[in-house]
Amino acid sequence: MSWCRPHLQRLVPYGAARHEFQGAAITLLDANESPFDTEFNRYPDPMQRELKALLAQQKGLVPEQIFIGNGSDEAIDLLVRAACEPEKDSIAICSPTYGMYQVVAATNNVPLIDVPLRTNFQLNTEVLLEKATDAALIFICSPNNPTGNLIDTEDIELLLKQVKGLVVVDEAYIDFASAPSWTQVLKEYPNLVVLQTFSKALGLAGLRIGAAYAQPSIIEVLNAIKPPYNVNTYSQQEALTKLRALEIHQKEIEQLIVERESLANALQEFQCIEKVFPSNANFLLCRSTDATDLYRYLLARGVVVRNRSQALPNTLRITVGSPQQNECLLTKISHYEKDTFY
Ligand code: PMP
Repeated sequence: MSWCRPHLQRLVPYGAARHEFQGAAITLLDANESPFDTEFNRYPDPMQRELKALLAQQKGLVPEQIFIGNGSDEAIDLLVRAACEPEKDSIAICSPTYGMYQVVAATNNVPLIDVPLRTNFQLNTEVLLEKATDAALIFICSPNNPTGNLIDTEDIELLLKQVKGLVVVDEAYIDFASAPSWTQVLKEYPNLVVLQTFSKALGLAGLRIGAAYAQPSIIEVLNAIKPPYNVNTYSQQEALTKLRALEIHQKEIEQLIVERESLANALQEFQCIEKVFPSNANFLLCRSTDATDLYRYLLARGVVVRNRSQALPNTLRITVGSPQQNECLLTKISHYEKDTFY
């Protein structure tokens, strides 16, 4: 448990009666709820047992290896709070990457070590091993947001073998990728944490459900410090319904991957788009002649994309939408070219 802040190792977590009771009660008088049945008058299952059981079965894990959070953002926050002593322990990131790692570090007054990705968007392992071997957490996003690429397996393996802290592989976009999940090798690496989310391929962003997968002793700490009822009843129900109909969502993913490739081809045709980077996610990173100008043009016409120019000069991150939405985007970009100097 050396990864965890010492005072948390002595923490007595909040315990509701429902943590202890399992099964169908005749009379629930333990939680000061309303007795009038409105479907949601009862608190949710604090341990999300049914959801974890199904996820465990589908992923070949045991429920004790699964943490469910209010989005994977909650897991990121809890990991930093569990592992990092403010002003002392550090976290490492490889920019450009998902912005919340940095925000959570700053919120918790935790020093940040940034070892930027190489120009091919792969890890600079040499520098990471030099600067971040002592970091309490290293966040690796694969496929990476906003670059869209997978991070090389051998590099992640090297980190897992050599660093002292936890290696957190954020797989928010793994369902769109041509690579297996790191959850398959959890047993081999006691310092590996894998993050996934129901917000992307599973289409439940509005319900805020994310997961962390790791060895049981890590999951135990996250469970101990989370708010007791962090995932609401409706979200748990809908997540279960989604997982029970995996074939349908598999078709949606395949459709989006086809759409991603045709959108990439179409974008490449524009003169104002210099480059469309290959993507293993449900978005495309594009380098434009003047990204901010194009961004503002689209925004003024109701098409919202993400301007990532601060992280990577002249880039836009464009989510792959429905065929109609993509068509709308392409039409607006062709208008932009006509309206400007092309
Ligand atoms: N990780 C990455 C890489 C993301 O891009 C996002 C959301 N954009 C998240 C985590 C957070 O996802 P959630 O909706 O599960 O909080």
